[in-house]
Amino acid sequence: MTVGGADLLHLDVMDGHFVPNLTFGPFIVEAIRKLTELPLDCHLMIENPLEYAPQFAEAGADIVTFHVEVDQDPHRVFDAIEAKGKKGGMVVNPATDIRRLAPWLDRCAMVLIMSVVPGFGGQKFMTEVLEKIPVLKDELGYDGDIELDGGVSPKTAAACKAAGANVLVAGSAIFGKKDRAEQIRLIREN
Ligand code: ZN
Repeated sequence: MTVGGADLLHLDVMDGHFVPNLTFGPFIVEAIRKLTELPLDCHLMIENPLEYAPQFAEAGADIVTFHVEVDQDPHRVFDAIEAKGKKGGMVVNPATDIRRLAPWLDRCAMVLIMSVVPGFGGQKFMTEVLEKIPVLKDELGYDGDIELDGGVSPKTAAACKAAGANVLVAGSAIFGKKDRAEQIRLIREN
């Protein structure tokens, strides 16, 4: 599968409860796993990661991220993902204080900061979420991967990188254009 120079594939899993939309489950991840060698980064926008995160890990996700806003014990979710030999990470919505991640940061291979309210594509980038990054790095001492998701485009990429993010997820900015490889290049180089 040609993926236009991307470093990884970010897969948005929505359950119709945590967010109103529904996308896909582990079977699709399993099918994508057969098509590419790229790391699969599975973002679970679901209420029950404890039950489903291991299924996505088993289906071929390399990293599985889940939201701090769900009412489950993150340590148990990390245990379930790591038991499958995969990495776990946590996600915060725009309105959530990044400090809520403090108790589990040493287990996060990645922290995903939502730069739109999750659930739908095509939304405008919320610049104010970038203020979470210095808190995460300097105040909380986190030094793993920092990913931004939502509204990332060649226009917003430079601010994301300047703030300290090293993994940028773009949907509409790439898939809404004809020359997808060029959009990825612009996001990488801007
Ligand atoms: Zn996502």
